[in-house]
Amino acid sequence: MDISLGSIRGIGPARLRAFQAAGIESVRDLVMFLPKDYRDLSAFTPLSEVRPGDTAAVRVRVAGEPSQRRARKLVITKVYVTDDTETMAVVWYNQPWLKEQLAPGRELLLYGRCEARGASIQFTSPAIEREAGLLPVYRAIPGIPAKALRQSVEAALKVCEGQWSDELPEALRRRHGLCERNFAMRNAHFPDSREALEAARRRIAFEELLLYQVALSLHRGRNEPGVRIDFSDDQIEAFWRALPFAPTAAQRRVLDETARDMRGPWAMARMVQGDVGSGKTVVAFGAMYLAWAGGYQSALMAPTEVLARQHYEGARALLEPLGMKIGLLTGSLTPKQHRLAHEAVASGAWDAIIGTHALITEGVEYKNLGLAVTDEQHRFGVRQRTTLGRKGDAPNVLVMSATPIPRTLSLILYGDLDISIIDELPPGRKGVRTRIVPEDKRQDMYGFLRSEVRAGRQIYVVCPLVEESEAVDARPAEQVYEDLRTRDLPDLRIELVHGRMKPADKEAVLERFHRGEADVLVSTTVIEVGVNVPNASVMVVENAERFGLAQLHQLRGRVGRGSDEAWCFLMAEPNDRLKFLCSTADGFKIAQKDMELRGPGDLFGTRQSGTIAFGVGTMAGDTQLLKAVHDEARALLKDAQSPDSQTVIRLAEQAYLQKFREAAAN
Ligand code: ADP
Ligand code: MG
Repeated sequence: MDISLGSIRGIGPARLRAFQAAGIESVRDLVMFLPKDYRDLSAFTPLSEVRPGDTAAVRVRVAGEPSQRRARKLVITKVYVTDDTETMAVVWYNQPWLKEQLAPGRELLLYGRCEARGASIQFTSPAIEREAGLLPVYRAIPGIPAKALRQSVEAALKVCEGQWSDELPEALRRRHGLCERNFAMRNAHFPDSREALEAARRRIAFEELLLYQVALSLHRGRNEPGVRIDFSDDQIEAFWRALPFAPTAAQRRVLDETARDMRGPWAMARMVQGDVGSGKTVVAFGAMYLAWAGGYQSALMAPTEVLARQHYEGARALLEPLGMKIGLLTGSLTPKQHRLAHEAVASGAWDAIIGTHALITEGVEYKNLGLAVTDEQHRFGVRQRTTLGRKGDAPNVLVMSATPIPRTLSLILYGDLDISIIDELPPGRKGVRTRIVPEDKRQDMYGFLRSEVRAGRQIYVVCPLVEESEAVDARPAEQVYEDLRTRDLPDLRIELVHGRMKPADKEAVLERFHRGEADVLVSTTVIEVGVNVPNASVMVVENAERFGLAQLHQLRGRVGRGSDEAWCFLMAEPNDRLKFLCSTADGFKIAQKDMELRGPGDLFGTRQSGTIAFGVGTMAGDTQLLKAVHDEARALLKDAQSPDSQTVIRLAEQAYLQKFREAAAN
């Protein structure tokens, strides 16, 4: 199984390089590259029953000559298809070669999304499949067409057929009704049936989660005594008094839990979860203040430059009057500023350092780091999360997560952390009224936006893309910006910001918006985390169907920060998923639903834990499975000398522990 990929049919030198660039080096790696999703072509929907917004599989005939035309940068191929219940248009963008394949009368299996076009509906860029059944969909690998990828996996599976030795102890497998490994691998890629797929997933998920959890526990078991920080209860009160508002009871409780850990003999490893807007930052600042009160430095790492700067400003305003010196360290400093920053960190001239991952790059030496805080931790990998905690001498670690995670799941994914939850919003928040806006109501909405701006409010417009894309049918930010500026809202002051801009330019735009010098900010999701403009009262999300629910919830958290009524408009055809978002403001419920529907990739970033996303994907909603894994891991570790425990521990070490240790070592 460690045979070279090059020996597989269809993989020449160029594809080999493409696979290697994606971290796939051997036949084994390729087989472990599990689908992110499946297309269900095991049953077909009659065209007459297809509704706008549906994703459907249909079996149809080409019902006429295909046509092709150009519009802007696009080549549009269009053809009519029929299945005798109905005739419908199908459109593809920038795939001119398809025209050759669309001979009248030819039978097609199509899988894709339907959209309303005026009074009729059409399929937009559906996949053309060759066979029926449950078909795997893989994460795209640059340089390898989807079809070739599928064929390569199929060939790799053939090579491995029957060769996986099942390493999980048999008693354990029987206890939990887990299927055999060869069966699991084959059916994870090319399921014989829904049932076989479920069994395969359960098996793979169970194994991954179990090994991950065991490794985390072992890793954590290593925790040595940490920095012990002394401060008084009076100092906690002094911090709360310095705030311009009264803390919520939940904020108090969570800072108390944090304070208890920091005073204790063991290095704190705590995660603070709280819905967007629940006021996590203040708790982080409180912990940093207490570290200083006890004579230690602290560091706060944010995922973006924008957010780091915002925290820096906030920390200065709050903590400098209390006597602390705050410093900023990000990647965009000049070499000279960089050198000075390093000196200030090393000499202790700075009591608290706020920055991006520049905080954990080589060469940053702290004088006496007592507390390491990571904000929006789901944006970082495990590796980065642990690295900040290894700077200096086993400092206390606090991670802040805006993604509420169902309790059972966080037990597993963050088994190495204690968890505090801020389950209360500051008083006076009105909540964000969320509405789905179909295309034919767009102009009405612009009217509403104008009246909001006239009333002195500001507006975010968020788009999934920066520029036009072949692969994705969505209005890019650049185009939305142009349309608003020249056609839809020419009387308003409109700005554009996206992730491909230079940090300084991005900064300048956000700064202008913050100061109220722009009415509308068109952006990609760069504004998702952090940016705090209390005067913004409306968020418009273009192509809302492209976002995960948890992400949309994060996004709308950017408005409703002031006391004004706040609105979020989801530009999309109505569907159940989006309706759910309109109906609740509870981040935990939304996160749970999102994981059930889309898997946790969005929540955790798939890189965070390798292939773990596959298993957790459909299993996140399966509380029983999660609990079974948790209990099994505990039982195994309790009886660590038994042969079965030894086997699992060895597997866990191979799979994860080594990675954790490497991360810890640098
Ligand atoms: P998040 O948990 O999403 O990181 P922030 O820490 O950014 O939330 O806080 C959101 C806003 O709420 C900030 O403007 C902050 O100043 C304000 N805030 C935090 N705690 C309180 C409170 N107890 N009362 C009133 N406003 C608060
Ligand atoms: Mg925050």
